[in-house]
Amino acid sequence: MLAMRVHAAGSPLLAEQVAVREPGALQILVRVLACGVCRTDLHVADGELPDIPFPVIPGHEIVGRVERVGSGVSRFRVGDRVGVPWLGETCGVCAYCRRGLENLCERARFTGYTLDGGYAELVVADARYCCTVPARYSDAQAAPLLCAGLIGYRAYRAAGEGSLGLYGFGAAAHLLAQISRAAGRKVFAFTRPGDVAAQQFARSLGVAWAGGSDEPPPEPLDAAIIFAAVGALIPAALAAVRKGGRVVCAGIHMSDIPSFPYRLLWGERSVCSVANLTRADAAEFMQVAAAVPLDPRVETFPLEQANVALRRLREGQLQGAAVLVPTQPPQPPQSPQPRPVA
Ligand SMILES: [Zn+2]
Ligand SMILES: [Zn+2]
Repeated sequence: MLAMRVHAAGSPLLAEQVAVREPGALQILVRVLACGVCRTDLHVADGELPDIPFPVIPGHEIVGRVERVGSGVSRFRVGDRVGVPWLGETCGVCAYCRRGLENLCERARFTGYTLDGGYAELVVADARYCCTVPARYSDAQAAPLLCAGLIGYRAYRAAGEGSLGLYGFGAAAHLLAQISRAAGRKVFAFTRPGDVAAQQFARSLGVAWAGGSDEPPPEPLDAAIIFAAVGALIPAALAAVRKGGRVVCAGIHMSDIPSFPYRLLWGERSVCSVANLTRADAAEFMQVAAAVPLDPRVETFPLEQANVALRRLREGQLQGAAVLVPTQPPQPPQSPQPRPVA
């Protein structure tokens, strides 16, 4: 199969032919129909995460069709459309797993990082961690739901009630803005300073205010979520939230946080991070996505153009999400219909 692989930190992905693995007893072989491009993929390609097992196939926002099932799989059948998210495997026995915090599992493995991911024609996944995807979305539209939507939603829940600031208006924020609006919440979008196009994009999705991350919002926020990988946004967001307000960091990697005066944290403001997801998060979010008609804005690229998509993401040139689409094999010919006898 064709796959786009990272061989070393900071080097471009290479298009390569890679052997297809047989699914194990609890696994499924999935033909990738669409795979979203997430900021975490940039951190993998740049070597910013610990212990990356190069070479690795990135991609953890996979929508695909089941092509083969392991002998112990009963949840899915050949031909089903499935989603393969970031959480690929957990141990089930560590203290976190036993407390229902499998997102923090000591021995978790992650799709497109410590497991091969969806920048490929096929992927093998543990069926217990796959999810169903609402039928109302096309393959490409559904792809960003698998991380931008899902982990974004975990951050959204962690942020609590009330008005919400979103720092970094990319794939996750553009979905959360729509979910927040559907829930009647006031949304404030913070973009790179001077990124007028991103601010207009945010306004087109119904946010109450859009401006640069160096600007104060017109009123104190109840909560803020930081999606951009910029540590300096933590003191900026703390300055923007009211007393008791919460700042949630939703990314897997951030530049160092500059020191800041204690008065920004004073008044029972808090900062926390959201890490990974649980299967319960996936089930809950997909129900929300099935009920709220989301309009995921996607720009599709052929699989072979993964480096172009990553560059566009790095340079902030995307509105919504980039999605890779592998060339699909020709459909097997339909068996001829028996002709009615005259
Ligand atoms: Zn992601
Ligand atoms: Zn565990």
